[in-house]
Amino acid sequence: MNHWATGTAGPWHWEAGLAPYAVRSDASAGRKHPEPDHPYRSPFQRDRDRIVHSAAFRRLAYKTQVFTGSLGDYHRTRLTHTLEVAGTARTLARALRLNEDLVEALALVHDLGHPPFGHAGEAALDECLANCGGFEHNRQALRIVEILEERYPGFPGLNLTREVLEGQAYRADKGPTRPSPALEIQVVEAADSVSYDTHDVDDALQLGLVRLEELAELPVWREAANYVRKRWHALDAAQLRRATVHRLVDWQMSDLLQEARQRIAREQIDSVAAVRRCGPIVVPSTAMAEQKRQLEQFLQQRVYRNPRVMTVRRRAQEQLREMFCALIHRPDQMPERFRHLADCEGLPRAVGDYLAGMTDRFARRQYAAVCRGGAKYPSRP
Ligand code: MG
Repeated sequence: MNHWATGTAGPWHWEAGLAPYAVRSDASAGRKHPEPDHPYRSPFQRDRDRIVHSAAFRRLAYKTQVFTGSLGDYHRTRLTHTLEVAGTARTLARALRLNEDLVEALALVHDLGHPPFGHAGEAALDECLANCGGFEHNRQALRIVEILEERYPGFPGLNLTREVLEGQAYRADKGPTRPSPALEIQVVEAADSVSYDTHDVDDALQLGLVRLEELAELPVWREAANYVRKRWHALDAAQLRRATVHRLVDWQMSDLLQEARQRIAREQIDSVAAVRRCGPIVVPSTAMAEQKRQLEQFLQQRVYRNPRVMTVRRRAQEQLREMFCALIHRPDQMPERFRHLADCEGLPRAVGDYLAGMTDRFARRQYAAVCRGGAKYPSRP
């Protein structure tokens, strides 16, 4: 029986313990296409389930995070990165008594719009679509959940709550004047940053793109590694790497929580409205922000621009560009739904959506079929 009907505790009784500045399900602004409440799942739990059951989410398993499959099988994919962000974000949310269901939905959707081949693929598509609005993965995630997913008979997309859409729109809006978002959104932003910084280091070490001695140049790594060495003696290189990465995650999380709690107390944050009026709350301390800046600079110079990574990246971009040109000239090689989409939104956008939805391996297969098997097309549409 529905709890609403009995007049007893509401269906989302577990939200009673949330902090006054957490987003509550009963205060949700609802969905674009109105739907009745579910009897025992909160609106944000439904959003989470819809995201997990989407085709775009399943494809994340075969999409590059930073390192493509040709470099090995150890490293994160876009799916495992997403799951790590969701776990990290939920830990922060629970410690701050925020709405974990909303945080989980926001985390699971946050990278849904990534094309194949990671940021290299994104840059190539942005170039191909330069004359019609460009391509950006956060905006693409919104297109997926609002238009492109076809799962429900009553509406296009996933019809997610306005709170989840707001979180994704916040990520897409890079403007300096964007207002502070709900803490649930801030938590996911922070968790994403903790995850990619530390896990890219872990992957790069395991793949042999950098050595432990190089990382020892960084104060943040040295301090974390010294902490580990004091606790455990005689670790081999692999044990040291793993334990130092764990320490880096733990250290950043503790710093975020301490900083957020101080800001919440200092600014007397007691409602969602107060969060929106305040500056950023879930951010690293000044000292940790500097450590992260150095770490990110190191990753930029030594890892993301590593010759092995750059070679794979250039090849992937060439393939996407060539496929884009080929499909502009031969849209009949796309599935029917993308040809229909071209009628409403123009051919370049439809080709961009088709390519962006591909996994890395599907893109490679299609490249072979579309470009190598057929006629030659000019490199630009
Ligand atoms: Mg991410």
